[in-house]
Amino acid sequence: MNNEPKKNNPVNKPSKKPKFSFYWVYGAIALIFIILQFVNYAPSTKEISLFKLENDMLKPHDVSKIVIVNRDFAEIYIKKDRLSQDKYSDVNKNQNNSFISQGDIPQYKYSILSPEKFEEELNKYQTEYDKQNETLVVKSEQRKDIFGDILGWLLPVIIFVGLWIFIMRKMTGGAGGGAGGIFNVGKSKAKIFDKESKTKIDFSFVAGLEEAKIEVKEIVDFLKEPKKYTRLGGKIPKGALLVGPPGTGKTLLAKAVAGEANVPFFSMSGSDFVEMFVGVGASRVRDLFKQAKEKSPCIVFIDEIDAIGRARGKNPNMGANDERENTLNQLLTEMDGFDTNSGVIILAATNRADILDKALLRAGRFDRQIYVELPDLNEREAIFKVHLKDIKTSKTIDTKFLAKQTPGFSGADIANVCNESALIAARRGGKEVEKQDFLDAIDRIIGGLEKRNKIITIEEKKTIAFHEAGHATISWMLKYAHPLVKVTIVPRGKALGAAWYLPEERQITTTEQILDEMCATLGGRASELINFNKISTGALNDLEKATKQAYAMIVYYGMSDKIGNISFYDSTGQNEYSFTKPYSEKTAEEIDDEVKKLIEKQFDRAVDILSKNKEGLKKLAERLLAKEVIYSDDLEEIFGKSQYDIYKEEIQQKEQQKEQENKNTDIKTNDKNNKDNNTTNIT
Ligand code: ADP
Ligand code: ZN
Repeated sequence: MNNEPKKNNPVNKPSKKPKFSFYWVYGAIALIFIILQFVNYAPSTKEISLFKLENDMLKPHDVSKIVIVNRDFAEIYIKKDRLSQDKYSDVNKNQNNSFISQGDIPQYKYSILSPEKFEEELNKYQTEYDKQNETLVVKSEQRKDIFGDILGWLLPVIIFVGLWIFIMRKMTGGAGGGAGGIFNVGKSKAKIFDKESKTKIDFSFVAGLEEAKIEVKEIVDFLKEPKKYTRLGGKIPKGALLVGPPGTGKTLLAKAVAGEANVPFFSMSGSDFVEMFVGVGASRVRDLFKQAKEKSPCIVFIDEIDAIGRARGKNPNMGANDERENTLNQLLTEMDGFDTNSGVIILAATNRADILDKALLRAGRFDRQIYVELPDLNEREAIFKVHLKDIKTSKTIDTKFLAKQTPGFSGADIANVCNESALIAARRGGKEVEKQDFLDAIDRIIGGLEKRNKIITIEEKKTIAFHEAGHATISWMLKYAHPLVKVTIVPRGKALGAAWYLPEERQITTTEQILDEMCATLGGRASELINFNKISTGALNDLEKATKQAYAMIVYYGMSDKIGNISFYDSTGQNEYSFTKPYSEKTAEEIDDEVKKLIEKQFDRAVDILSKNKEGLKKLAERLLAKEVIYSDDLEEIFGKSQYDIYKEEIQQKEQQKEQENKNTDIKTNDKNNKDNNTTNIT
């Protein structure tokens, strides 16, 4: 286990014996190998060919003995008096140097290809030797390679054992260093952040999230002064659920609570509980709570609780995930089981509270839900301020400007932008981080890395330029489309080109807004059609987006006259696996029909707008081809003020007018009052 202090050997007792370790065994085996290599292959046995054996050795009768081993190879012994000849000088020299006395070892070795033939040959030479009263000894031997045999069955065993140890270590999450190994499977893998931990996080690290902080501050109070709340008979809540999209600072908030209350913090992810063994999850839950109770007061944080907390048994046809359910049951039991005032508070995070089992959300368990939303403009500015503290920025950096450039970014995205911009600045060798570095970092996080050396033909480049110019032109001409920032035909990530917009932050979207956006989305393909009279596969993303938008309008938002004010959206998420539609075949057909009509209409509109502005579109595409990146200024130069700007100005003017009118009416009513007063006075 990680958090128990290791029992060290007493330091004062000198232990001179080297510690036994498995590496010694490996070392010994390696050593034996090396020695055997030397012994087996005596220094100077030289491999020769049959041709050489016959012509140089057998024919001049130099050979005294041939031993055929395992019918595999032959060892050739040369007569001692012939060894001094020049042709044997190579083996002779070696043998003189060798420790082993001459004569007991063969000088040459021949690998036999065909034993029968070789024996025949030797018979021939034997008779020839006999004729001259010499003897050529030919022996046959069977030698056993004991070492090889042993290795033959030992090696698989060693490999098997090694594999087994490896798997065991993997399963216990690399806990192999400590004691236990496999026996640790059921222990919780919670990371603990103690008071001693170096980085203490408090609320100053968390920017924005004011409402969430207020709710969470209560928990800090509970932990600090439980008496104050239990005095009147109230019960301290057991847990709170932090709900929000990923990267919005849920973990950070939980850590800050622990830091503020100065209590230990156990952190674990929902998926950590579930393992390939049955029953492990439940036992890990038990262990986690046991540890937590020992360290109370403390905070237990379970990230991504939906991994175990998903509603139970909603899905009979796919077979229930028993292991996950057991884990969840154990969690519920533990939460009920421990005393309310034991000082353990459980915080859990999820981005989908709707799919959690209702039993988890019952009073007495996670009875509080704290919503952590994506940051708005001011919150983003605050988050930038937190993360820019450690970064050397130029004095001109305006956090408000950065916050404006990053709509829809989460806290984690912003942290990432700050870090990325510092890296970009470092790469170009700058002394401090400039505005452009930030903009590059933002682009990179939205669109991925620039790929300037992707191979694109001139023809393709032209198509891309006209496509992107189409998007840009239409969004320029529609008052509800998002305002354009820049257009580029530098490939980035998977996209070949892109038009960047600055989305307005709105809470509700009207039909006109969606339609205008859809029209701009289809503008790419429309432009291809108008200018080349053919279409390409480059519009895949656009079409996907438009289609999804159209379906959402009709089946979720009730924006179609024909289907009516009906929504088939299921916010409980409980029909996730079911394949049946909540509407009839007839309605399905109608929906498809409506979607098709909707998209067609917007496409025609796009074609219409582009045809009317063909000159400008062409100019824009040409400028794009020349400069690769163009900004809203370029568009203004070509087309004049954008409809969006005109519309915004109109609204402003109207508001000013209204104010003026209000003031006038105020004056008038005052006059009237005065008059009335006067009249009353008179009467
Ligand atoms: P979540 O748990 O919601 O997925 P995290 O808490 O892990 O998100 O956030 C990841 C990182 O993003 C944090 O470590 C922090 O650097 C940054 N971050 C997110 N939200 C904020 C915030 N409100 N203020 C400051 N930093 C934030
Ligand atoms: Zn496009």
